Amino acid sequence: MKLSLIVPCCNEEGNVTRFFEAAESVFAREGFEYEYIFVNDGSRDGTLSELKALSGTANANLRVISFSRNFGKESAIYAGMKAAAGEYTTLIDADLQQRPEVALQMVRILDEKPEIDCVAAFQDRRKESKLLIWFKNMFYRVINGMTTIPFTNAASDFRTFRAPVREAILGLCEYHRFSKGIFSWVGFETEYIPYEVMERTAGKSKWSFFKLCKYAIEGIVGYTTAPLRLPVWLGGASAAGGAIYFIVALIRRLCGVPWHKAAVLLAFVAFMGGCILTAIGVLGEYLAKTYEQGKGRPLYIVRETFEKERDENK
Ligand code: UDP
Ligand code: MG
Repeated sequence: MKLSLIVPCCNEEGNVTRFFEAAESVFAREGFEYEYIFVNDGSRDGTLSELKALSGTANANLRVISFSRNFGKESAIYAGMKAAAGEYTTLIDADLQQRPEVALQMVRILDEKPEIDCVAAFQDRRKESKLLIWFKNMFYRVINGMTTIPFTNAASDFRTFRAPVREAILGLCEYHRFSKGIFSWVGFETEYIPYEVMERTAGKSKWSFFKLCKYAIEGIVGYTTAPLRLPVWLGGASAAGGAIYFIVALIRRLCGVPWHKAAVLLAFVAFMGGCILTAIGVLGEYLAKTYEQGKGRPLYIVRETFEKERDENK
């Protein structure tokens, strides 16, 4: 099997058949073996019956995984990848905003360039409001400033990758998944290609601004423990400020300048508050370590190994 197309579907009754037909018109004539894995993520409309009808009539390798309820796109992608058998795996949305032609372009790049492990599409021109684009740019600036792994702005999870990448991603079985981070974390050589986002063919987007904010926080919390360490710096600065003021006030007092009682009290409060904050930060430091350990991520991911045996006759 050369290619597995993973299609997460949540309330996509108007799209799944159209998606299948569009994908067939691209892949059926290619002459390689491929499969569709539709993951029905707790749809409340007729998506499942559409998929059932499709699997009855379609002349293609087609599998449907239907969740017991809505678990989110990240879980749907994971389930699809677990079932995939292809040499390449493509993640593509059901709403035809991401064209199957671009997926084929990705497959061709992987065929031509053995040094590339993953081809990811990024939005050429974002068809979003200026405010949303600003928020997204801010998010990437913040997260790239806080983490050591790079997050590529505008790169979507519309991508095609080789089996070792899939295995590496499946090896990260953390509950709170943030695929943009996971793709960066596993590494591998990635080529980015521009693509134009189409209008949704039917239905509406599941992403509200509130959901996007939640997702952004998921990304920051999942990929940096810096906020847990912040109190150490804030507390340290506050305690040091309080202590310095107190020492200065004490020297002035010894030189005969009377105490400024309110200021000394304020310095004492800053010092004590700072000490408490620092203590919280220290706890955070331990919590961060436990959190990282709890994710159970592998220590490293091997891309390839070379071996050479000594020639006895030489
Ligand atoms: N999706 C899903 N589970 C969800 C939300 C979305 O499987 O809880 C699927 C959805 O059916 C679509 C893809 O994820 O195939 C992208 O969703 P959507 O089009 O709503 O996102 P947008 O394109 O607006 O970012
Ligand atoms: Mg969409």
